[in-house]
Amino acid sequence: MKKIEHIGIAVNSLEDASVFYEKLLGVSAYKQEEVISERVNTAFFKTGINKIELLEATDKESSIAKFIAKKGEGIHHIAFEVEDINIEITRLKKEGFIVLGDGPKKGADNKWVVFLHPKSTNGILIELCQEII
Ligand code: ZN
Repeated sequence: MKKIEHIGIAVNSLEDASVFYEKLLGVSAYKQEEVISERVNTAFFKTGINKIELLEATDKESSIAKFIAKKGEGIHHIAFEVEDINIEITRLKKEGFIVLGDGPKKGADNKWVVFLHPKSTNGILIELCQEII
């Protein structure tokens, strides 16, 4: 793992939450992007070297909609940047982590992403991401 790449926050409204984060951080989102496979709209904010990803469901089957229905708005996942996502998947499976899905998918912000089930990570949804080059 190289570093925490971003923190993902589930929000009801990307528009409302963006206003709040603009005030809080003093910057506008540098990117807004829909990820159709995940049924989310995302907005990314940079503060220093750190990034915040806001996630809004695009329909009620979205995992973000289900998360908010269960837990309310708030921190949804922590994303770690990795050098080679496939090597990390193999390593973490061996360590007993539950990797969701059938391998890396194209996520927001030009990344390959995969998630680790919170059951295997002390309750935190963990995202691994690797820059697509
Ligand atoms: Zn993320």
